[in-house]
Amino acid sequence: METLKSYNPATGEVLGEVEITPAGEVPNIVARAKAAQPAWSDLGLEGRAELINTTADIFVDRVQKHGELMTKEMGKPIKEAIGEAKSLGWGIAEELREIVEALQPEVVEDGRLRSTIYHDPLGVVGAITPWNFPMSMPAWMILPSLAAGNAVVFKPSEETPLCGQAYADVLNGVLPNDVLIVIHGADDQGKAIVQSDVDMIAFTGSREAGKHIMREASGTLKRVVLELGGKDPMIVLGDADIVRAAKFAASNSFRNAGQVCISTERIFVMDSIAQEFEQALTEIASVMTVGNGMGDADVGPMVNGYQRDHVLGQVESAIAAGAKVLAGGDGHYENFVVPTVLGNVTDEMDIANAETFGPVACVTRVSSVDEAVEKANDTHFGLGAVVFGGDAEETTEVARRLTAGMIGINSAPGGAVGTPWVGALQSGFGFHKSADGHKQFTQTRVVTTRA
Ligand code: NAD
Repeated sequence: METLKSYNPATGEVLGEVEITPAGEVPNIVARAKAAQPAWSDLGLEGRAELINTTADIFVDRVQKHGELMTKEMGKPIKEAIGEAKSLGWGIAEELREIVEALQPEVVEDGRLRSTIYHDPLGVVGAITPWNFPMSMPAWMILPSLAAGNAVVFKPSEETPLCGQAYADVLNGVLPNDVLIVIHGADDQGKAIVQSDVDMIAFTGSREAGKHIMREASGTLKRVVLELGGKDPMIVLGDADIVRAAKFAASNSFRNAGQVCISTERIFVMDSIAQEFEQALTEIASVMTVGNGMGDADVGPMVNGYQRDHVLGQVESAIAAGAKVLAGGDGHYENFVVPTVLGNVTDEMDIANAETFGPVACVTRVSSVDEAVEKANDTHFGLGAVVFGGDAEETTEVARRLTAGMIGINSAPGGAVGTPWVGALQSGFGFHKSADGHKQFTQTRVVTTRA
């Protein structure tokens, strides 16, 4: 049996290994999930939610263990990993309550006809996830899939198979056999799931893989929900609180070593305050510590050497094209990249266009709000965006001109509990969270009688 080794990116040590699922086995696995799904569906919405909710205490008990596993397997600082581990258990009851409410049948009458809208399971959902939030990304798609009455075949990223397995193990402690089946491997196993007889693909990952999945899924018109990459802009207006804006820019560019889909990747700052802003951001970046996430470093390693080389390649080519190094830039070792601030970033640089997914803050000075908005929108991506400014009317007006799906004003892009996590343009197709998001894991059916 072929195995997949999992490495600690901070130390290079082998953490463990899993058996790779042969791609040729995937159709049989999907058939097992299909066979298990009707009985799971028959438990009813409330029955399923109640059963899944019994895992909350187990997730809470395992916060430390899961946090450490995430840090060791993909590098994020332990504080951030513990936060992610906590969200699994503490958020589950609220999430299930939201799903149960969203999927209740709805009655619509027009005086002549009386219709009931049902939200039925689709069948089997193929869930394919990335490594950057190795337990919460699976949770975002597996919980609504299961609660809606679907069975799930789940392929965690090949970078974080142990985290994926640990997440599924908790659910499988209470679920009937074959309702949730883990498939281990890389692209080939992902492709085999897409080509199989699953009824829906829920995918979070890169734009390129998302496009491939959409093409492949078209053969049988499989449902797809795709949460893809981003190149999020941040606009800093002339009357912004500069210190607050710089603190946000640093935390949102360097968190999880920049390996966050809604990382701030492009900063457009008004000329009038640019120098002060750059200085504040540079001061914060210069004192940030880099190291093994199990210690007290602010920034952990990149997930692997490929990601490190990609980030450093973008930085080097930007410097060669005239970008100014304000902090970091060259001090890196093994999988670690020092938090870097680049000034004088211009439109034609690769780092201004392609997703970086690394701890780099790129600053471009602009002379007007129109120029900032035009540059911010000059991208195929459209996940998050942020506007910092002092005037509520102006910041709202700028926010409404941005083409991203989630826009934060003096705040991160992610919305309040109950709102969708949504990418516009080529950052996504469909979305997660919220009543509308949960309904995407169902087949809508309308049954009508005369009123
Ligand atoms: P990736 O696309 O390389 O891989 C994601 C998953 O898809 C992995 O499990 C991989 O094995 C599988 N895969 C790869 N190619 C496939 C194919 N052709 N068919 C089927 N499966 C395939 O992405 P990654 O490097 O793991 O994750 C980083 C990316 O994820 C970034 O672009 C980031 O922005 C994005 N992301 C987006 C969100 C969001 O909410 N929009 C959240 C987290 C990460």
